Amino acid sequence: MSEVNWSEEVLKRKEALLSDLNGLLEIESVLNEEDSTEEAPFGYKVREALDYMLRLGERDGYQTKDVHHVAGHLEFGDGEEAIGILCHVDVVPAGSGWTSPPFKPELREGKLYARGAIDDKGPTIAAYWAMNIVKELYPSLSKRVRMIVGTDEESSWRCVDTYFKQEEMPVMGFAPDAVFPIIYAEKGIADFEWHFPAVKTEQHDLVLKSFGAGERLNMVPDFASAVLIGEEKVLSELKTVFEEFVSQRHLSGNTSLDESLTIEIEGVSAHGSKPEQGNNAAFRLAEFLSGVGLDTGGTTYIDFITKWLTDDFKGEKLGVNCEDTITGDLTMNAGTFSYTALHGGKIGINLRYPVTCDFSEVKTQFDKVTGPEGITMNIIDHMTPHHVPEDHELIQRLQRVYEKQTGDVAELLSIGGGTYARSLDAGVAFGALFQGKPQMAHQKDEYVEVSDLLKAAAIYAEAIYELAK
Ligand SMILES: [Zn+2]
Repeated sequence: MSEVNWSEEVLKRKEALLSDLNGLLEIESVLNEEDSTEEAPFGYKVREALDYMLRLGERDGYQTKDVHHVAGHLEFGDGEEAIGILCHVDVVPAGSGWTSPPFKPELREGKLYARGAIDDKGPTIAAYWAMNIVKELYPSLSKRVRMIVGTDEESSWRCVDTYFKQEEMPVMGFAPDAVFPIIYAEKGIADFEWHFPAVKTEQHDLVLKSFGAGERLNMVPDFASAVLIGEEKVLSELKTVFEEFVSQRHLSGNTSLDESLTIEIEGVSAHGSKPEQGNNAAFRLAEFLSGVGLDTGGTTYIDFITKWLTDDFKGEKLGVNCEDTITGDLTMNAGTFSYTALHGGKIGINLRYPVTCDFSEVKTQFDKVTGPEGITMNIIDHMTPHHVPEDHELIQRLQRVYEKQTGDVAELLSIGGGTYARSLDAGVAFGALFQGKPQMAHQKDEYVEVSDLLKAAAIYAEAIYELAK
């Protein structure tokens, strides 16, 4: 067969592709736990989106399978091994402020607006039509081609967890659920809390009654507050000192004094993978409190913050800093703080560590510091790093296809976050957002540029062919 023009093949099928996409975008497939049944574990709309994909597969002659109504696959070809394309059809809630209704797709100036347009229904349908093209042009390849459709990517990945417990793991594959060119390495991510025991209350001039900041581990807290109790004179003096502190540092703060003194401070939020870009309000408030002469419990908690955590985003003070050329530095975000004199305290950490770093060594190092203080660690969630070596045939082939079709260098990207691709043993994130384009996932007025989507479909088609041939 003469050389296939993949873009042309996509263009021939443009109307059918867009029509399938429209139908999928119209389904409000937002997780609804209240609506959860055995038939529709994440709500009936999410189930409807899964069924929609399986029906497309039946229409076009794929082998399809529904896996406990939380995931499924469409497959063609026969061959010992399978390549995988991992997509998801659940979406985050629409939120407010949309120009056109989020579940009534609207085309304006070459952009298709709808919730899920870029994350991940548009890329899913692009990859689906890419499969259709390959299936039509090359019905027998050496590997099977399997699209795996998940329905819980936006929450807790119960879809892929369930799916891979019983279904085969493709030998390699990609997830069209992020950006081009290729994300080949993702840091390990650990969410944990340190628990500080309560200290027996003592008579003291100034007692830290409570301290709190932050709601999410993966965000830099932009607000912190503390309540202090003591003699009225002590508190009113402290109020003045705090107001000076806030103004000297050009921060925003608030105080209120009655039985107790409440002090509040504002910081700057940032994503937990880039804590250095924010200004952690809890660090600023602890900085103030560290010099004021608190009770023992309060002092232990505040000193821990200032001694080990404040403005150290790489874990250097705690001695856990490490880095490699693949994924860069370990990063640490102190995202949640809560303390009461009665019950003791907690500090919640979002830790992202490089692929060559050993988490158990990090933990041992933490324990050296926290153990003597009676501070215990509770791991909430832990994802090990994910990495496909540069010389793996998956990377080699995807790079070749991407460079051939776009004329750009297929740079390998590494990130601190986690993409869906890490649920594949040998998987990378591959598109569908092109470099330099605004990331509209999870935003109001989410859209996909139709010409980009067609471009992505052409890349996917050739990629599928190259991986499965
Ligand atoms: Zn996604």
